Amino acid sequence: MTKGFIHSIETCGTVDGPGLRYVIFLQGCPMRCQYCHNPDTWEPNVGDQMTVDEVLRSFYNNRAFYKSGGVTVTGGEPMMQMDFLIELFTKLHKDGVHTCLDTSGIMFQPNNKVFKEKAEKLFAVTDLVMLDIKHIDDEKHKELTSHSNERILAFAKYLDDKGIDIWIRHVVVPGITLYQEYLTRLGEFMATLNNVKALDVLPYHTMGKVKYENLGMEYPLGDKREATKQEAASARNIILMAYKKAKESK
Ligand code: SF4
Repeated sequence: MTKGFIHSIETCGTVDGPGLRYVIFLQGCPMRCQYCHNPDTWEPNVGDQMTVDEVLRSFYNNRAFYKSGGVTVTGGEPMMQMDFLIELFTKLHKDGVHTCLDTSGIMFQPNNKVFKEKAEKLFAVTDLVMLDIKHIDDEKHKELTSHSNERILAFAKYLDDKGIDIWIRHVVVPGITLYQEYLTRLGEFMATLNNVKALDVLPYHTMGKVKYENLGMEYPLGDKREATKQEAASARNIILMAYKKAKESK
Protein backbone atom coordinates (compact mmCIF):
# COMPACT_ATOMS: atom_id res chain seq x y z
CA MET A 1 0.00 0.00 0.00
CA THR A 2 1.33 3.39 -1.02
CA LYS A 3 1.65 5.95 1.71
CA GLY A 4 1.13 9.63 1.02
CA PHE A 5 2.73 12.60 2.71
CA ILE A 6 -0.25 14.45 4.10
CA HIS A 7 -0.22 18.09 5.12
CA SER A 8 -3.72 18.19 6.57
CA ILE A 9 -7.36 17.20 6.09
CA GLU A 10 -10.36 19.51 6.14
CA THR A 11 -13.64 17.73 6.71
CA CYS A 12 -16.07 20.50 5.68
CA GLY A 13 -14.78 22.10 2.49
CA THR A 14 -17.26 24.30 0.64
CA VAL A 15 -15.10 26.04 -1.97
CA ASP A 16 -13.08 23.18 -3.41
CA GLY A 17 -15.55 21.64 -5.81
CA PRO A 18 -19.30 21.01 -5.90
CA GLY A 19 -21.20 20.36 -2.65
CA LEU A 20 -19.73 19.62 0.72
CA ARG A 21 -16.26 18.12 0.38
CA TYR A 22 -13.69 16.17 2.30
CA VAL A 23 -10.49 18.00 1.36
CA ILE A 24 -7.07 16.36 1.56
CA PHE A 25 -4.00 18.59 1.39
CA LEU A 26 -0.92 16.76 0.13
CA GLN A 27 2.56 17.87 1.01
CA GLY A 28 5.07 19.19 -1.55
CA CYS A 29 4.99 21.80 -4.32
CA PRO A 30 7.67 22.78 -6.86
CA MET A 31 6.08 26.16 -7.62
CA ARG A 32 6.92 29.30 -5.66
CA CYS A 33 3.92 31.52 -6.27
CA GLN A 34 4.62 34.90 -4.75
CA TYR A 35 1.15 35.06 -3.24
CA CYS A 36 1.09 31.45 -1.98
CA HIS A 37 -0.65 31.33 1.38
CA ASN A 38 0.49 27.77 2.10
CA PRO A 39 4.31 27.91 2.05
CA ASP A 40 4.24 25.25 4.76
CA THR A 41 3.13 22.75 2.07
CA TRP A 42 6.16 23.32 -0.20
CA GLU A 43 8.64 20.86 1.29
CA PRO A 44 8.15 17.36 -0.19
CA ASN A 45 8.43 14.09 1.73
CA VAL A 46 7.73 15.55 5.15
CA GLY A 47 4.71 15.49 7.44
CA ASP A 48 2.40 12.60 8.28
CA GLN A 49 2.71 9.48 6.17
CA MET A 50 -0.66 7.80 5.79
CA THR A 51 -2.22 5.04 3.71
CA VAL A 52 -5.32 5.63 1.58
CA ASP A 53 -7.49 3.82 4.12
CA GLU A 54 -6.14 5.92 6.96
CA VAL A 55 -6.74 9.14 5.05
CA LEU A 56 -10.28 8.15 4.15
CA ARG A 57 -11.35 6.66 7.48
CA SER A 58 -13.19 9.73 8.66
CA PHE A 59 -14.70 10.28 5.20
CA TYR A 60 -16.26 6.81 5.15
CA ASN A 61 -17.42 7.13 8.76
CA ASN A 62 -19.44 10.18 7.71
CA ARG A 63 -20.13 9.36 4.10
CA ALA A 64 -23.82 10.36 4.13
CA PHE A 65 -22.72 13.85 5.05
CA TYR A 66 -20.92 14.25 1.70
CA LYS A 67 -23.78 12.93 -0.45
CA SER A 68 -23.99 16.12 -2.55
CA GLY A 69 -20.21 16.58 -2.71
CA GLY A 70 -17.26 14.23 -2.56
CA VAL A 71 -13.52 14.27 -2.07
CA THR A 72 -11.07 16.92 -3.28
CA VAL A 73 -7.32 16.53 -3.21
CA THR A 74 -5.25 19.68 -3.17
CA GLY A 75 -1.93 20.84 -1.74
CA GLY A 76 0.75 21.80 -2.21
CA GLU A 77 0.78 20.16 -5.59
CA PRO A 78 -1.05 16.82 -5.41
CA MET A 79 0.36 15.51 -8.70
CA MET A 80 3.77 15.22 -7.01
CA GLN A 81 2.37 12.06 -5.39
CA MET A 82 0.83 10.33 -8.39
CA ASP A 83 0.87 6.76 -7.06
CA PHE A 84 -0.95 7.74 -3.91
CA LEU A 85 -3.42 9.85 -5.86
CA ILE A 86 -4.19 7.01 -8.28
CA GLU A 87 -4.83 4.58 -5.43
CA LEU A 88 -7.02 7.09 -3.59
CA PHE A 89 -9.17 8.10 -6.56
CA THR A 90 -9.46 4.53 -7.85
CA LYS A 91 -10.96 3.45 -4.53
CA LEU A 92 -13.32 6.43 -4.37
CA HIS A 93 -14.41 6.04 -7.97
CA LYS A 94 -15.21 2.37 -7.41
CA ASP A 95 -17.38 3.42 -4.48
CA GLY A 96 -19.21 6.03 -6.58
CA VAL A 97 -17.69 9.05 -4.83
CA HIS A 98 -17.15 12.27 -6.82
CA THR A 99 -13.42 12.96 -7.17
CA CYS A 100 -11.91 16.38 -7.71
CA LEU A 101 -8.26 17.29 -8.19
CA ASP A 102 -7.15 20.84 -7.41
CA THR A 103 -3.84 21.33 -9.22
CA SER A 104 -1.53 23.86 -10.82
CA GLY A 105 -0.81 21.36 -13.61
CA ILE A 106 2.91 22.00 -13.28
CA MET A 107 3.80 18.30 -13.05
CA PHE A 108 2.33 17.56 -16.50
CA GLN A 109 5.00 15.93 -18.70
CA PRO A 110 3.40 14.76 -21.93
CA ASN A 111 6.69 13.40 -23.29
CA ASN A 112 7.49 11.32 -20.26
CA LYS A 113 6.22 7.76 -20.81
CA VAL A 114 5.98 6.85 -17.13
CA PHE A 115 4.12 10.03 -16.29
CA LYS A 116 1.74 9.56 -19.20
CA GLU A 117 0.83 6.04 -18.13
CA LYS A 118 0.12 7.25 -14.62
CA ALA A 119 -1.90 10.19 -15.92
CA GLU A 120 -4.05 7.81 -17.98
CA LYS A 121 -4.85 5.86 -14.83
CA LEU A 122 -5.51 8.94 -12.74
CA PHE A 123 -7.79 10.70 -15.19
CA ALA A 124 -9.81 7.56 -15.78
CA VAL A 125 -11.02 8.00 -12.18
CA THR A 126 -11.11 11.82 -11.89
CA ASP A 127 -14.46 13.59 -12.27
CA LEU A 128 -13.32 17.19 -12.11
CA VAL A 129 -10.10 19.19 -12.20
CA MET A 130 -9.80 22.60 -10.64
CA LEU A 131 -6.97 24.12 -12.62
CA ASP A 132 -5.17 27.16 -11.29
CA ILE A 133 -3.87 29.35 -14.08
CA LYS A 134 -1.59 31.79 -12.30
CA HIS A 135 -0.69 34.02 -15.25
CA ILE A 136 -1.48 33.74 -18.95
CA ASP A 137 1.72 35.49 -20.01
CA ASP A 138 4.65 33.10 -19.88
CA GLU A 139 7.30 35.64 -18.87
CA LYS A 140 5.07 37.07 -16.16
CA HIS A 141 4.21 33.54 -15.07
CA LYS A 142 7.90 32.84 -14.58
CA GLU A 143 8.27 35.96 -12.45
CA LEU A 144 5.22 35.10 -10.40
CA THR A 145 5.79 31.38 -9.85
CA SER A 146 9.39 30.65 -10.90
CA HIS A 147 8.08 28.31 -13.65
CA SER A 148 6.89 28.58 -17.24
CA ASN A 149 3.15 28.13 -17.87
CA GLU A 150 3.79 25.93 -20.91
CA ARG A 151 3.03 22.65 -19.14
CA ILE A 152 -0.02 24.11 -17.47
CA LEU A 153 -1.64 25.26 -20.69
CA ALA A 154 -0.72 21.95 -22.35
CA PHE A 155 -2.33 20.17 -19.42
CA ALA A 156 -5.58 22.09 -19.95
CA LYS A 157 -5.62 20.91 -23.56
CA TYR A 158 -4.84 17.33 -22.52
CA LEU A 159 -7.84 17.35 -20.17
CA ASP A 160 -9.99 18.80 -22.93
CA ASP A 161 -8.98 15.96 -25.25
CA LYS A 162 -9.87 13.50 -22.51
CA GLY A 163 -13.27 15.17 -22.00
CA ILE A 164 -12.58 15.93 -18.33
CA ASP A 165 -14.45 18.92 -16.93
CA ILE A 166 -12.35 21.72 -15.52
CA TRP A 167 -13.00 24.73 -13.34
CA ILE A 168 -10.48 27.47 -13.93
CA ARG A 169 -9.19 29.40 -10.93
CA HIS A 170 -7.37 32.67 -11.27
CA VAL A 171 -6.11 35.05 -8.62
CA VAL A 172 -6.13 38.74 -9.47
CA VAL A 173 -3.20 40.65 -8.02
CA PRO A 174 -2.95 44.42 -8.54
CA GLY A 175 0.04 45.22 -10.74
CA ILE A 176 0.61 41.55 -11.65
CA THR A 177 -2.45 39.86 -13.14
CA LEU A 178 -5.05 42.59 -12.83
CA TYR A 179 -4.69 44.02 -16.34
CA GLN A 180 -7.29 44.09 -19.08
CA GLU A 181 -4.76 42.66 -21.57
CA TYR A 182 -3.90 39.60 -19.50
CA LEU A 183 -7.47 38.93 -18.47
CA THR A 184 -8.56 39.11 -22.11
CA ARG A 185 -5.81 36.71 -23.15
CA LEU A 186 -6.88 34.31 -20.42
CA GLY A 187 -10.47 34.40 -21.72
CA GLU A 188 -9.23 33.80 -25.25
CA PHE A 189 -7.17 30.84 -24.13
CA MET A 190 -10.15 29.37 -22.28
CA ALA A 191 -12.16 29.68 -25.50
CA THR A 192 -9.75 27.25 -27.20
CA LEU A 193 -11.09 24.59 -24.79
CA ASN A 194 -14.46 22.85 -24.68
CA ASN A 195 -14.30 21.52 -21.15
CA VAL A 196 -14.42 24.69 -19.03
CA LYS A 197 -17.43 24.43 -16.73
CA ALA A 198 -16.76 27.28 -14.32
CA LEU A 199 -14.46 30.18 -13.62
CA ASP A 200 -13.46 31.33 -10.14
CA VAL A 201 -11.69 34.66 -9.96
CA LEU A 202 -10.28 35.28 -6.51
CA PRO A 203 -9.01 38.56 -5.12
CA TYR A 204 -5.41 38.47 -3.86
CA HIS A 205 -5.31 38.60 -0.06
CA THR A 206 -2.50 38.78 2.45
CA MET A 207 -3.77 36.26 5.00
CA GLY A 208 -0.76 34.02 4.36
CA LYS A 209 1.71 36.70 5.43
CA VAL A 210 1.79 35.52 9.02
CA LYS A 211 2.84 32.02 7.93
CA TYR A 212 5.93 33.48 6.26
CA GLU A 213 6.75 35.32 9.46
CA ASN A 214 6.33 32.14 11.48
CA LEU A 215 8.58 30.26 9.05
CA GLY A 216 11.19 33.04 9.21
CA MET A 217 10.74 33.77 5.50
CA GLU A 218 10.47 37.08 3.74
CA TYR A 219 7.01 37.70 2.24
CA PRO A 220 7.63 38.01 -1.54
CA LEU A 221 4.91 40.55 -2.24
CA GLY A 222 5.88 42.89 0.58
CA ASP A 223 3.17 45.47 1.14
CA LYS A 224 1.35 44.98 -2.13
CA ARG A 225 -2.27 45.87 -1.62
CA GLU A 226 -5.03 43.28 -1.69
CA ALA A 227 -7.51 43.16 -4.58
CA THR A 228 -11.12 43.98 -3.76
CA LYS A 229 -14.06 41.68 -4.34
CA GLN A 230 -15.34 44.20 -6.84
CA GLU A 231 -12.07 44.12 -8.79
CA ALA A 232 -12.26 40.33 -8.88
CA ALA A 233 -15.86 40.50 -10.14
CA SER A 234 -14.96 42.98 -12.92
CA ALA A 235 -11.92 40.88 -13.84
CA ARG A 236 -14.19 37.86 -14.13
CA ASN A 237 -16.46 39.81 -16.48
CA ILE A 238 -13.54 40.80 -18.68
CA ILE A 239 -12.37 37.17 -18.91
CA LEU A 240 -15.86 35.92 -19.70
CA MET A 241 -16.49 38.58 -22.32
CA ALA A 242 -13.25 37.71 -24.09
CA TYR A 243 -14.17 34.03 -23.81
CA LYS A 244 -17.60 34.56 -25.37
CA LYS A 245 -16.28 36.81 -28.09
CA ALA A 246 -13.61 34.29 -29.05
CA LYS A 247 -16.12 31.42 -28.99
CA GLU A 248 -18.56 33.34 -31.18
CA SER A 249 -15.92 34.20 -33.75
CA LYS A 250 -15.09 30.52 -34.28
S1 SF4 B 1 0.99 26.09 -6.68
FE1 SF4 B 1 -0.28 26.46 -4.89
S2 SF4 B 1 0.84 25.54 -3.16
FE2 SF4 B 1 2.27 25.73 -4.88
S3 SF4 B 1 3.31 27.68 -4.53
FE3 SF4 B 1 1.60 28.07 -5.89
S4 SF4 B 1 -0.11 28.67 -4.58
FE4 SF4 B 1 1.46 27.67 -3.28
